[in-house]
Amino acid sequence: MPENILDDSPHEECGVLGIYAPGRDVARLTFFGLYALQHRGQEGAGIATSDGRMAYIHKDMGLVTQVFKEDNLKPLEGHLAVGHNRYSTTGSSHLRNVQPYLIETIRGPLGVAHNGNLTNALELRKLLLERGVGLSSTTDTEVITQMLAAPAGIWTNGHTPSEIKDEPDRWVARIKSFMQMSEGAYSMAILTREAIYAVRDPYGLRPLCLGELPGGGYVVASESCALLTIGAIYRRELNPGEIVRLDASGVTSYQGREAVKRALCIFEYVYFARPDSVLEGQVIHTVRQRMGRQLAREAPAPADIVVGVPDSATPAAIGFSLESGLPYTEGLTKNRYIGRTFIEPDDSLRQVGVKLKYNPLTANLEGKRIVLVDDSIVRGNTVGPLVQLLRDGGAVEVHVRVSSPPVRHPCFMGVDMATRSQLIGHRHTMAEICDHIKADSLAYLSMEGLIAAVQQEMPPRNGHCDACFSGRYPLDIPEWLFDEDREKLIFEEMWG
Ligand code: SF4
Repeated sequence: MPENILDDSPHEECGVLGIYAPGRDVARLTFFGLYALQHRGQEGAGIATSDGRMAYIHKDMGLVTQVFKEDNLKPLEGHLAVGHNRYSTTGSSHLRNVQPYLIETIRGPLGVAHNGNLTNALELRKLLLERGVGLSSTTDTEVITQMLAAPAGIWTNGHTPSEIKDEPDRWVARIKSFMQMSEGAYSMAILTREAIYAVRDPYGLRPLCLGELPGGGYVVASESCALLTIGAIYRRELNPGEIVRLDASGVTSYQGREAVKRALCIFEYVYFARPDSVLEGQVIHTVRQRMGRQLAREAPAPADIVVGVPDSATPAAIGFSLESGLPYTEGLTKNRYIGRTFIEPDDSLRQVGVKLKYNPLTANLEGKRIVLVDDSIVRGNTVGPLVQLLRDGGAVEVHVRVSSPPVRHPCFMGVDMATRSQLIGHRHTMAEICDHIKADSLAYLSMEGLIAAVQQEMPPRNGHCDACFSGRYPLDIPEWLFDEDREKLIFEEMWG
């Protein structure tokens, strides 16, 4: 793969959505919910529905608006739906890996939409293949789907706790049984003939929230922005290890597996989640402003104006401006669509580099000393060209401030973060990075500063995964996953 000159952001794996709403066009609601979650995955999208008898599905590669048209949305009948936006972290970017998965089981249709990565997916996949289960794709989500298709206890040769075996809801029994065997990150929406189930892993690594539709019905979604978009009222987040069932009796909650510790991905606050979403009771935009304020306190810069890298660093840049007293000014215009195309630039356009995506607003930059605020530096391939772009636009000094600590460690919990050697923060010192990007100065937010900004208004019980910054993973990571040659195509390479 050529180095992506347009994008130095980590990529979230997915957005998921599930709806139970009798009398409503749930496929259409799911479409608009997925549209609100588009930022979580742009490689493929899909919706599966059920009317209590039959199940229906449409999925394809591309953005939600590219995948769905009136003629393929209309046949998705029923009052139950799950939907998915995909960015690939396990399994290649290919149609056969697009979600949701929909299969027929002895208990009727089963559809699964999943956000996260299982860290023991390879073992579980091997178990399925050895038992003769054929797989049609190369994702951990298909592994989950096939495990849920079989009665609880099958995969453990009957060594399943009696409270699971005796669980009267047979789908809940299967989900609990899966949770006993799986490790890693999973937030899921599951479609069955009678109900939607939603599941969150025992660490709560990936977000999942619950809402209610006025007039009847319930929704689960990766982020609250999707609930607002379809007119649902936000109720709460799912707890770590929780299963909820949405059906005619309302919302029923089960503890699928004991919560280990709260470890929501702190990168949701830094970059992934939409600024208007609410996580753990906090509006993301507000938390990002706090990060910018904290950064200004920790690393002031001798400058005239503050410019943010649009759009994700804008709230942090505003926070930096408010704390420092330096005026916030737009200095870069972003083409919001270029990074989401499937068309790779040719060699001559690659020379143009970041100008395909950003242009300097010269009228605001000329003769100015600038603080350029970015939310994160991963591989370090765009911030240097952005510094140059600002200089070309007339800036006399560019001081880079990053509203998160250096990314030094890979992620195995559902984020495409690059391998250790690809991370500029792992390979180089601060001075070397500053030199490399040709900035007048460079500073990152400290780890303590990030945690303070995120947890300022939280009860002490809340913890977060910050492993890509700190190297402290909330769960055991198998050694082989650190292999530099490991790519997201592990199943293609080892079992394909
Ligand atoms: S390692 Fe980083 S990106 Fe991955 S879950 Fe933890 S905080 Fe999020």
